[in-house]
Amino acid sequence: MSTCPECAGSRLPDHPAGLLVISHKPTCSLGAAEDARKVADADAVALGYRSGLRDTTTTERVLLAAITGTDPGDVPDVVHMRSIAGGAVVERCWFAPDGSVLVPADP
Ligand SMILES: [Zn+2]
Repeated sequence: MSTCPECAGSRLPDHPAGLLVISHKPTCSLGAAEDARKVADADAVALGYRSGLRDTTTTERVLLAAITGTDPGDVPDVVHMRSIAGGAVVERCWFAPDGSVLVPADP
């Protein structure tokens, strides 16, 4: 499924920010949570951390599970962030325990 499980907004394929870029409806709580997360990630990058790690958010867990068809409990606990496009975009990436890239890989 390439839509938001709450508002049915469509995923934007091939977006530089990665797999979880979705056109949420204005009333979608998952979209609001993603907007807040995006601001926090941009702040972290603006402080000079061009890349870093943080915990996967509950919203990311729900969206990743919906898009990839995995169980939310199987989504890795850590997300790797890196600044791309001159700092304009923060790309998110998740790795499997064996080191292979889970996301971004188009489903
Ligand atoms: Zn949504």
